[in-house]
Amino acid sequence: MHLSPELEELGFLVAFTGSGGGASVGSYASLNLSYNVGDEKGRVDSNRLALAEAAGVPLSRWILPRQVHGAASALVGLLEAGRGSRDFLSGIPRTDALVTRTTGLALAVLTADCVPLIMVDLTRRMVGVVHAGWRGVYAGTPAAAYSMLTEGGGEGGQVLVFIGPHIRSCCMEVGEELKEAFERKYGVGVVPTSDTGAPHLDLETACVLQLGALGVPRSDIFTTGECTACSQGYFSYRNSGGRCGRQGALTAMTG
Ligand SMILES: [Zn+2]
Repeated sequence: MHLSPELEELGFLVAFTGSGGGASVGSYASLNLSYNVGDEKGRVDSNRLALAEAAGVPLSRWILPRQVHGAASALVGLLEAGRGSRDFLSGIPRTDALVTRTTGLALAVLTADCVPLIMVDLTRRMVGVVHAGWRGVYAGTPAAAYSMLTEGGGEGGQVLVFIGPHIRSCCMEVGEELKEAFERKYGVGVVPTSDTGAPHLDLETACVLQLGALGVPRSDIFTTGECTACSQGYFSYRNSGGRCGRQGALTAMTG
């Protein structure tokens, strides 16, 4: 699990999990956090409990969305505490990004190749989490979540953005249609060509450009730098042929 000790000292939890260290077996081995991919519920319960313990936020205070590869974000608080934490159906429906101002609530999204982003407003004290595959990046989900985070807080915030493990351009070969769509929005730099001449989509650069257009400096965006498809230790939808577990991005204000 990637954790940031510097942020923890400031009272923010920023965590990205991988595929190791859990109780699930087979395609879900072993730290699968999703109730919605065919894994046994008891194993996911145990994986989530272990993570809740490590993160120091009980499951009763976690909130997860029911992700749909859309651009909707939701501002959540105590009223939503626990939703999606012990089952899939009670999650916040049709939502791919969550934002909160409430200390002690943990927000999570689940991914396997899609881009997980965590946003932390250090001064106005808000956090957000985003799930964005190519559809979500194209639809502007990271920008929508950033706007929700900053609009609620008034002037003078300092927002840091953390981009977690996802499928990087090394492994994200795309067809002509996607190549043209992304190049129209973000320029040719977001679709580099491999040695074999095939177009590859760079989702991280698209996110950086999208947030940059809202005024987020590159120096405030941090990345774990790992590719879920070719680094060890991550669930990859593409690599597994579509049957695999999900890793998590988890954030909270802890104090
Ligand atoms: Zn790769």
